[in-house]
Amino acid sequence: MSQKRDTRRRREQEEPDNKRHSLNTEAGIAAYMFLILFLLLVGYFIYFMAFKSEDFINNPANPRVKGFEKLVVRGEIKANDGTVLARTITRNGKEVREYPKGREYAHVVGFNSNGMSGIESDKSFYMLRSHAFILERIMNDLKEQKNPGDNIVTTLDSRLQQSAYYGMGSYKGACVAIDADTGAILAMVSKPDFDPNTVDQEWKSLSKSEDSVLLNRASQGLYPPGSTFKILTALSFLKNGGSLSDTFDCNGSYSTGGYTIHCYGGEVHGRQTFLQAFGNSCNVAFSQVGLSLPKGALKSTADEFYFNQKLPTDILNVKQSRFTLKASDDDALVMQTAIGQGNTLVTPLHMAMICEAVANDGVLKKPYVCDHIENNRGSLVRGHVSSELRLCSASEAKTLRRLMRYVVTNGTGRVVNSSSYTAYGKTGTAEFSEDKSKAHSWFVGFAKKGKKKIAVAVIMEGAGAGSSHAAPLARKMFETYLR
Ligand SMILES: [Zn+2]
Repeated sequence: MSQKRDTRRRREQEEPDNKRHSLNTEAGIAAYMFLILFLLLVGYFIYFMAFKSEDFINNPANPRVKGFEKLVVRGEIKANDGTVLARTITRNGKEVREYPKGREYAHVVGFNSNGMSGIESDKSFYMLRSHAFILERIMNDLKEQKNPGDNIVTTLDSRLQQSAYYGMGSYKGACVAIDADTGAILAMVSKPDFDPNTVDQEWKSLSKSEDSVLLNRASQGLYPPGSTFKILTALSFLKNGGSLSDTFDCNGSYSTGGYTIHCYGGEVHGRQTFLQAFGNSCNVAFSQVGLSLPKGALKSTADEFYFNQKLPTDILNVKQSRFTLKASDDDALVMQTAIGQGNTLVTPLHMAMICEAVANDGVLKKPYVCDHIENNRGSLVRGHVSSELRLCSASEAKTLRRLMRYVVTNGTGRVVNSSSYTAYGKTGTAEFSEDKSKAHSWFVGFAKKGKKKIAVAVIMEGAGAGSSHAAPLARKMFETYLR
């Protein structure tokens, strides 16, 4: 009996121990849970501060933006020579945003109302921070006055922007110019345009316009690339064993599987090397090149050049270019794709970037439009950090330069040839409707003189042949920058 009682007592003694033990375990688990939660919170906080806070502050739906605007006068946006492109002034006791250059910079600078756009939207956060000198801020705080926000100094070149804007004339379309050495965006024009000073008053008609006036066609306009795409078809051809001396016969058209492709303007190019076929922009030769490439070859070249991906640039609202040729697609679509028709769509900014990389031995310097941020007295707050990406090999880029140089010296782009600089390019005439007489006029290329290198892409909607409309504007851009 007593033994049994002993055992029971022992058990009774042990039981509280067990309970205590399990309580300890629970407390331990809870502590760990709290620690994990705490670490997650700290992690999210760091992540938010590092990556998300700018998006958050930039979001016009965020009520805190209004809070910043109560404390800071929104900073200015300037061209690279200091020309003011956007500033905040006081009119009838109210702060208003003024755009001294109006329509000329409408799309790239954007506007700060109705959802915001352009640099006004992308860099909003920086213009609502003040790095004014500490004494100035203390004085402002004491006087209950707002502090002056930081200014955005862009890479935009006033002379080039003006050339592009007036050169586009009344054509719809876009013109982009990039410093091929650095990736600095020198000009970005989209037409039709609008006056950013009166966006509020005209919002109803602007936002409903059939011409998509508010759309920045340079970064968001998706166009069939037409023959400018032959740059990538040529690269694919070179990557797959093709050579510049390979020959092609052109009798003006090429048919396969019940589909016929013609050369532009009813031209017959006869026997030509690949170099000459590129110079002539011969659709017959390039249809044959397209059909001769291994399935998937064009797609992988397009993917290496950032099709179907977000373009690497500090401009946030950029449309992805599209390339969708599949191994199962028929010969007709393969031929059309190889000459830049088919389902391929590209932005003018993207075409300028492709030319920039070709000019730079295959390396793309990431294009950017914000050169630096300065405080209200011009002291540097934050500079640009450049980054680069390799799109093709140096020798491939060199061969592409030979092809694009030939276009200018002997081919469809002779109008940009000049003795005062060395130009390279490709024209394009992109059909966009059943009516074959209507076509977009393209020119993409680059030019250099000494150490200066500029890449451009020009598209004029419905203007016809690239050689007669877009190329002369490219020439004007080259002359303006390299003179
Ligand atoms: Zn031909």
